[in-house]
This record gives sequence, C-alpha cells and structure tokens, in this order.
Amino acid sequence: MNRYIIIGAGIAGTEAAAAVLERDVEARVDLFNAEPDLPYYRPQLTKIIDDLSPPRPIKPKSFFSTPGLHFHPETTVKSIDTLEKRIFTAGKIYPYDKLIFCCGADALLPAIQNPGNARLFSIRTFSDVQRLHVAAKSRKTAAVIGGGPLGLETAESLTRLGLHVTVYETFTRILGRQTDGEAALFITEFLKSNGISFSVGAQFTVTAPHRIAPYGELPRPADVIIVSAGIKPRIRLAAEAGIKTNRGILVNDRMQTSVPDVYAAGDCCERENGVLCGMWSPAGDQGRTAAANATGASESFVPKAGKLMMTLFGKTVLSLGRPEPQGENGTARTYLKKSSGSYLRLFTDGAKCTGLIFLGTPNEAAAAVSVFGRAVAPGTGAPVEGFQ
Ligand SMILES: Cc1cc2nc3c(=O)[nH]c(=O)nc-3n(C[C@H](O)[C@H](O)[C@H](O)COP(=O)(O)OP(=O)(O)OC[C@H]3O[C@@H](n4cnc5c(N)ncnc54)[C@H](O)[C@@H]3O)c2cc1C
Repeated sequence: MNRYIIIGAGIAGTEAAAAVLERDVEARVDLFNAEPDLPYYRPQLTKIIDDLSPPRPIKPKSFFSTPGLHFHPETTVKSIDTLEKRIFTAGKIYPYDKLIFCCGADALLPAIQNPGNARLFSIRTFSDVQRLHVAAKSRKTAAVIGGGPLGLETAESLTRLGLHVTVYETFTRILGRQTDGEAALFITEFLKSNGISFSVGAQFTVTAPHRIAPYGELPRPADVIIVSAGIKPRIRLAAEAGIKTNRGILVNDRMQTSVPDVYAAGDCCERENGVLCGMWSPAGDQGRTAAANATGASESFVPKAGKLMMTLFGKTVLSLGRPEPQGENGTARTYLKKSSGSYLRLFTDGAKCTGLIFLGTPNEAAAAVSVFGRAVAPGTGAPVEGFQ
C-alpha cells in the first residue's frame, strides 16, 4: 500500500486526492486542510461579500468518506522531513511515500504607502469575507486597490452592500492582463454607469485609517480599504524542508519539485517558465497531473489558452487568448451591437481570431466565444450576428 499525503484541500488538493484514489485502489491518502469544514469553491468569495451566502462545496460530503481517504480538516501541517519522509502536525507524525503540496497562496500585499498603518482587508478565505462584511456593513465608502478581475468583483459586491466604491489601479488601465486600452476603457465606462469610480494610472497613499489620496490630490474618504493585487504562493513549509522555491515552489511540467517523491500543484507552485497558477481550473488540472505522476504515470501539465469569464452587473465579461494583434499581419477590430449595447473586440494574426474581448448579455456570449480560433477575414463584416 502506498501512503500519499496531500497538504491543502483546495481545488488542487481535492482533485489530486480524487485522482490518486482513481489510479491506485490500494492507496491511503491523508488530505490535510488548515481551514475548517468542507473545501469550497473559492472563486465565489468576491461575489458574496454583500449577502454572505455560503460558498458551495467542491466535492459532496460523501467524497470524504471514500475508502482510503482520510480527511483532516482544521489541521495544519507544521513541518516536513523529506529524508525520513514524514510530516508533522500539532502532536502527530504521519509517514508518506509520496507528498503533494497543494497549500495555495496568500493575498499579495504590495508595498502601499500607508504611514498611519490603516487596516487593509484582503480576501482569500470565507472568514476573510465574513470579517470584511462586518466592517463594511452600514458604511458609506470603500476603496478597492487593484483593478483586476477580483478587484472588480469585490467592487460590485460592495456596491450591492450600499457602499460607494472607488477602484485604485496604478497601471494605466483596469484588467491589464485581459484587455487592451480600448476594451478596458469601454468596460470602465460600463462600470462607471453602475456607480463605481476609478483612479487609474496614478500612485496613491493611504493617508489615514479611512482616507486615501491619489497622487497630487486631496484625500478621499474610504471607510474600508481592500487590497486585491494578486497572490503570494505559500512556500515557507517547502523552503524550510529544503525544497527549491522562488516566488512559488519550483516544479517541472510533471509537477515534480526538486526533491524526489515530492510534488506541488496549484497556487503554491511556480512552473519552470516562472509562471504562477492563480486560476481555478489550471489548479485542479495541476493537482490531477501531480497525482498521476505520484502514482507512477508520466503526464505533463499542458496549459490552456488564457481565459477570463465573469459577470459584472448582469453582463458577461469575456477575454480569450491574447488581447493584442499577433505578428506582422495582426489586426484589432471592434464590433458593437446597437440593440443591446454589447461590445466585441477581436484580435487576429491576419487569418484567424487569436484573442477576443466581449462585454454583453449572457445569451450572446456563446456566439462570441465561437469566433475564437476561427478564420476572421478583414473586411468581410462582423462574424457574430447583430454586431457591426
Ligand atoms: C476571492 C477569490 C476569487 C477568485 N476568483 C477566481 C475566478 O473567478 N476564476 C478563477 O479561475 N480563479 C479564481 N480565483 C483563483 C482560484 O480560486 C485559485 O487559483 C485556486 O483556488 C487555487 O487552488 P489551490 O488548491 O491551489 O489553493 P487554495 O484554494 O488556496 O487552497 C489551499 C488550501 O491549503 C490549505 N493550507 C495551506 N497551508 C496548509 C498547511 N500547512 N497545512 C494544511 N493546509 C494548508 C489552505 O488553508 C487552503 O484551504 C479566485 C481566488 C480568490 C481568492
């Protein structure tokens, strides 16, 4: 019987556990999670700040009584001995044959000028959301630092709670990785029409506990301040065990770390090209890849094309592929649908659509997605019905 230990039961850890149990029927899997209760769907967190509806579980309760699986909620792995192949929790030692790190990331707190040491919130767990909800309820104003997808979802959720929200983004546009300048401007105007304010392309200082000032301007009120600026992989445990780390736990495309029989997957790891995970589906795929290799197979993690899909104020926001023209013949072109106010921007390599940004009604989204990868000849009219 092989003994597998998985540290962390987010999407990477639960998918790794499921894959080990599918592939090795004799396995004993110990799945440790620092958080209490059942593992849940983390992407919901930014959408429930207003009503605190509990996020849905990743797997049904019955999964955790699968023969061979030993789930340890609210149990933190404190240290690891990779020579003797064992891990330590408070008061207990567990031996392993294969170890998979799936311990995720913390919210990145960038260097923000905050001379008064104002309280800054961030969202990573359901308890973070509960704390933010209590602090924001019955307040008037909020500042969200970071104009990425999670910052914008946070801004919407706080708007629903009745606050006036300003998004502070030091880069020249919101959704910097998923849009180009033109599309970002369109989405910004849409969000402004729903009551959100923006300070984009400027530095700022948190001047006092409830005050934030864009560079050269007077401080504005901000009853709560939330930072949404990316992830900081949890590497301490691995680094202390002598496993190579950089920003994340370093892995090859088989999700192997620098130490034999030790793997890492999801937000805690960094692939050889320096890329962090930071997204739900790839984290699950990496967990499955790590499990496959831990059980003796030989599989590589193959990343899929970049994709963003979210809903803001009832509209679907989509970004697929690369939001810029590709190569010498690459083009960028915008289409609008007057009847619904929907927006479609297509990027090509001259022959086919290599990137796409869409803001529109949910029932138009499927038609928009279908354009991706298709031939889009310049000058032949809009590739989606109703757009021009
Ligand atoms: C608010 C929010 C919204 C998001 N929205 C989206 C979205 O819309 N789309 C998308 O693709 N991605 C989204 N993401 C990103 C996505 O949720 C993550 O990429 C994904 O959850 C990573 O999964 P993971 O299993 O690697 O890590 P995590 O989900 O972070 O899980 C790691 C688990 O390990 C546990 N752990 C850590 N250390 C230990 C230890 N020493 N011992 C035991 N347990 C430990 C932690 O408690 C945690 O439960 C969002 C993330 C957040 C925070």
